[in-house]
Amino acid sequence: MSTPSKTANPIQIPEMFESEGWHPLSWNKKEISQLPPYPDTEELQKAYNELRSLPPLITSWEVEALKEKLANVSEGKAFLLQGGDCAETFDACKAPKIVNMLKVMLQMSFILVHEMGRPVVRIGRIAGQYAKPRSRDFETVNGEEMLNYRGDLINSIEATREARTPDPQRLLTAYEKAALTLNFLRALSDEGFADLQHPEQWELDFMKNNEYYKEYEAMVNSIHKAINFMETITPNSFSTLHKVDLYTSHEALNLYYDAAQTQRVPRKTGWFNLSGHMVWLGNRTKQLDGAHIEYLSGIRNPIGIKVGPPFDLEETLQVIEKLNPGREAGKIVIITRMGADYVDKHLPTFIRALKQEGHPVVWSCDPMHGNTFSTEKNLKTRSFNNILEEIRTTFAVHRSEGSYLGGVHLELTGDNVTECVGGANGLNETGLDINYETYCDPRLNYEQSLEMAFLVAKEWNK
Ligand code: PEP
Ligand code: MN
Repeated sequence: MSTPSKTANPIQIPEMFESEGWHPLSWNKKEISQLPPYPDTEELQKAYNELRSLPPLITSWEVEALKEKLANVSEGKAFLLQGGDCAETFDACKAPKIVNMLKVMLQMSFILVHEMGRPVVRIGRIAGQYAKPRSRDFETVNGEEMLNYRGDLINSIEATREARTPDPQRLLTAYEKAALTLNFLRALSDEGFADLQHPEQWELDFMKNNEYYKEYEAMVNSIHKAINFMETITPNSFSTLHKVDLYTSHEALNLYYDAAQTQRVPRKTGWFNLSGHMVWLGNRTKQLDGAHIEYLSGIRNPIGIKVGPPFDLEETLQVIEKLNPGREAGKIVIITRMGADYVDKHLPTFIRALKQEGHPVVWSCDPMHGNTFSTEKNLKTRSFNNILEEIRTTFAVHRSEGSYLGGVHLELTGDNVTECVGGANGLNETGLDINYETYCDPRLNYEQSLEMAFLVAKEWNK
């Protein structure tokens, strides 16, 4: 693991926090990685104060409900589907994109429910996924050296030194965009749902030449029958029974954003991050004594922990211990992202060690981040087959270790982008140029996502 390198800009500690051992800003004195300093601490303080005064995006009851559902996943009674953009952008906060994202997540979850006979917990990388860790601090564009783009929550993708300077106003814009996204998601979940599950909303033609097409078509027909049946006997059962159809999540990377929205709630103990239901610790910010772990150790939300090469088993166990000393079920989601070729090497010992320590985790597989490569034209991509291969080997290892792989974590979109190669529609490297939109990592498109859900269910049933 890399060592912590930088100190964060100091924020004034409110008096009411001072008597507490842990508080939403106790990380602020620690070294922080992956967050360049803001040039203007005063501006940052102003933005922080304003963000802290705004109403929460979500509620503690939703956080607790999600934790209970994740506890069911850890016991093998449900499955977790977590997915969304690598990096959400402010510009993409638009109706069609949000509708398409909800639609693909819902349709994938119907496939999983149908094939697995288990409830599926849906969590989007959405309404807050605006900050990115980067492997390099700087890049050189047209001979000019500048800070790397770190997500819209921190700076702009525009390649000038000025645009790349961290800007505290972005904390407030992120909150606004997250609020707009969530508001529309909630409205769609309440009333637009029936429309999203209509037969003509399933775009299946791309599967026509696929060996599984008949099976796939039969499954979709059967899903429709089941939904129609439910809707007939209990009108609106899907929309009213599930107030939140899609929980939200993001990487807790820019801790000013998360800390400003971390609150106590009347009649409850502890602190809740009310900017998103679940947050995760990235693979690059896992320093035991660093700011990110300090912050995450004090909140009651479920926490994802990304684990992949390079990682140290002992240190990883210490991180898990620090974030969940009470071994609360539903609290920790271990998201392994080994790379298809490294699952066999690393995962069995990791599973055994956690079992030995008695940690009741949800095991989830991120088959994206260990399988990225660049094309000759220098476009970042991933191959559908490698992604599937990591899922396959991860299922196989869990099976032979007697543990339960309870979820997948995918970078995907409901749009017809061309960022990952492969899948039934046969996208190849030359086709990537057609609609390559991501600001960061390549995502599965609508068709690739549905197909992946179908193949995940097949692996699950082996
Ligand atoms: C991500 O999820 O976009 C990411 C950067 O992942 P990781 O921390 O696993 O590299
Ligand atoms: Mn990513």
